[in-house]
Amino acid sequence: MSEPASSPRHVVVIGAGIVGVCSALALLRAGFRVTLLERAAPGQGASFGNGAVIGEAAVVPVATPGLLRKVPGMLLDPRGPLALRWSYLPRIAPWLLRFAAASRPKRVEQISIALAALLAGSFAAFDRLLEMADAADMLRRTGWLCVYETEAGLEAYRPMLELQRRRGVSFDILNRDALREFEPALGPIFARAVYYPDVGYALDSLRLVQVLAAAFGRRGGTLKRAEAHGFEIGPDGPRAVLTEAAPVPCDAVVIAAGAWSKRLAAELGRAPPLDTERGYHVQFAAPGVAPRLPVYSTERGIIATPLEVGLRVGGTVELGGLKAAPNWDRARVLLEQAKRWFPGLRTEGHSRWMGFRPSMPDSLPVIGRSPRFANAIFAFGHGHCGMMMGARTGEIVAALLAGRDPGLDMTPYRADRF
Ligand SMILES: Cc1cc2nc3c(=O)[nH]c(=O)nc-3n(C[C@H](O)[C@H](O)[C@H](O)COP(=O)(O)OP(=O)(O)OC[C@H]3O[C@@H](n4cnc5c(N)ncnc54)[C@H](O)[C@@H]3O)c2cc1C
Repeated sequence: MSEPASSPRHVVVIGAGIVGVCSALALLRAGFRVTLLERAAPGQGASFGNGAVIGEAAVVPVATPGLLRKVPGMLLDPRGPLALRWSYLPRIAPWLLRFAAASRPKRVEQISIALAALLAGSFAAFDRLLEMADAADMLRRTGWLCVYETEAGLEAYRPMLELQRRRGVSFDILNRDALREFEPALGPIFARAVYYPDVGYALDSLRLVQVLAAAFGRRGGTLKRAEAHGFEIGPDGPRAVLTEAAPVPCDAVVIAAGAWSKRLAAELGRAPPLDTERGYHVQFAAPGVAPRLPVYSTERGIIATPLEVGLRVGGTVELGGLKAAPNWDRARVLLEQAKRWFPGLRTEGHSRWMGFRPSMPDSLPVIGRSPRFANAIFAFGHGHCGMMMGARTGEIVAALLAGRDPGLDMTPYRADRF
C-alpha cells in the first residue's frame, strides 16, 4: 500500500446519504476542503425511508446461531420477514455462504464486540455534528420497545439478550400488563416486550440528512450533483473523480455510495462482498394513534417509528439485487401488521417506499483505507444500522484522513477481511 504523499487537502466524498454527509461535515470540521458528489439529492437512498432509530443496543448481528434453520420456513411464507427473488439466487449465493459462516457462535460474539465498539458514542457523535447544523433537537431519546407476540418468541431470543448483556446494553423485560400500561397505543396482541432506555430516533431520517447537508454548504463545503463513474489514478492513488461532466480533481476520495459502492471500491483496489437487503415502509401522515417511542418486532423484522412526518412502519428483508422492481406485496404485509399493532390506525392516503440497505454478510460495515491506496477511504456496507452509525463513521473517516487515531481498532471493518 502506498503512503499518503502529504496530508490531503481536497477530499471528494461520493454519496450524500447519512454516511456521506456525516463524513463530509466531519472532514470540513477537520480542516479539509470537501466536495460532496451526489447523483440525486441528499438523502434519497436508503437514508430516505429507514426506521430512524439510533442507539447503542444494536449489538446483535443479522446472522445469528439458529437463524439458518428458520430460513426455509421464512422463505415459504410470503408474509414473512425474509423474501428471496429466486432469479437472484445465483448472484447472491456467495454472499449467503458468508452470511451462514458469520452465524457461528464464536463469530457472532466477535461481530457483536465490533458492532458495540462502533456504536459506542453514536449519540455524542451526532450531537457534535448536529451542533454544527444548529439542529440539536433532531434526535429524541425515548428508548425503544422490542415486542413479542408469544412467550416462546421472547424465550427464543434469550441468548441474544444475554449477548446484549455481555456488551453492557441495559434493558427491562415487561409482561403483558406492564406493556399495556407503558405503551397504550399498542393492541393487546403482544405477550412480552423488552424496553431499552439508551435508544432514540431522528425526527425524520430525510430531514436529518438535509440539515447536515445544508450545514455542510453553509460552512463552505461544495455539494455537486453528478454521478461518479470512475477515477483517474495517479502514482499515489486517485487524483480525480470522473463524472459525466468534467473530472473533479481530488487529493483523497471517500466512497460512501451505500449499496452502489462495490464497483467504485473495486476500481480502487478491492470489491468487498457487498449486496443489498431491500426493505420497505408504509407511512401514515395522520395515523390517529400516537406511540411515544419506536416499537420493533424481532419476530417479524418490522419497526414502527412516530416521526414528525407521520407514523412509519418499515422493515423486512428482500434479497433481490439493485435492479428488480419493488414487490409492493411486501409493503402490504407492513400495512396489515400496522393495523394489528395499532388498533384505530387511520390508513387513508398512506405512502409506501422501497430502499436498498447496503449490506455485508457479517453485518459489519467496511470502514478504512483501500488496501491499495492510502488516499482512498471506504465507508459503506452499514446494513441495518447505517443511520445510527452514520455520525460515528463520519468522524472516523475524518480521523483517518487527518492521520489521527480514530479511537478504536479498525481491523474488524477492513475491506479485505474476507
Ligand atoms: C426499511 C429500512 C429500515 C431501516 N431502519 C434503520 C434504523 O432504524 N436505524 C438505522 O440505523 N438504520 C436503518 N436502516 C439502514 C439505513 O437506512 C442504511 O444503513 C443507511 O441509510 C445507509 O446509508 P448510506 O449513506 O450508506 O447509503 P444511502 O443512504 O443509500 O446513500 C448512498 C447515496 O449515494 C448516492 N450514490 C450512489 N452511487 C453514486 C455515484 N456513483 N455517484 C454519486 N452518488 C452516488 C445515492 O444516490 C445515495 O444518495 C434501515 C433501512 C431500511 C431499508
